[in-house]
Amino acid sequence: MRRKLVFATNNSHKLEEVKAVVGSSFDILSLKDIGCHEDIEEPGETLQENALIKARYVKDKYGYDCFGDDTGLEVEALNGAPGVYSARYGGGDHDSKANMKKLLKELDGATNRKAQFKTVIALILDGKEYLFEGKVKGSIITEERGDAGFGYDPVFQPDGYDQTFAQLGSGVKNSVSHRALATKALCEFLKNI
Ligand code: IMP
Repeated sequence: MRRKLVFATNNSHKLEEVKAVVGSSFDILSLKDIGCHEDIEEPGETLQENALIKARYVKDKYGYDCFGDDTGLEVEALNGAPGVYSARYGGGDHDSKANMKKLLKELDGATNRKAQFKTVIALILDGKEYLFEGKVKGSIITEERGDAGFGYDPVFQPDGYDQTFAQLGSGVKNSVSHRALATKALCEFLKNI
């Protein structure tokens, strides 16, 4: 029987991206799958803290082995902002349109548009905690392009491509993205235990 692992999210995009990388080796359950419909707060000041908060919430309340993730978009010309505050950058909570609008405004006229996405995954397995990280470098283009993906995908163009994640779609995103790389590191670890 496949081992079950809870991913502390109800974000269907994140869930699909992680399942595509994990494949059939583990049965990945979402928060909804275990009857958790709450939004877990993200009060931490680092991605690590927030990823751990999400994983510990599930472990403490529901008792499952699980992992949580947190992602930040770090823009060089903005000294690493919005970073851990990416979800609330535009004033709302996970309001992607407002977030991208603010980002494009902040970078209006900027010549340095370099940025990176960083994902941290915190795993709790058999009572122990482990951290995994993935990064992808790229740049912020000057307008939204593409319909696939979520969050900042329409304005983020990974290095080596001339389209945004939202134009490239899940095939490319799941092979080069921050989340894909962090998930691959998680899978490597799980393979060896
Ligand atoms: P969180 O990890 O859900 O807290 O995400 C923080 C912010 O980054 C939210 O605004 C998300 O929409 C955005 N975000 C997270 N992952 C991605 C991604 O893979 N692509 C684009 N935006 C993302």
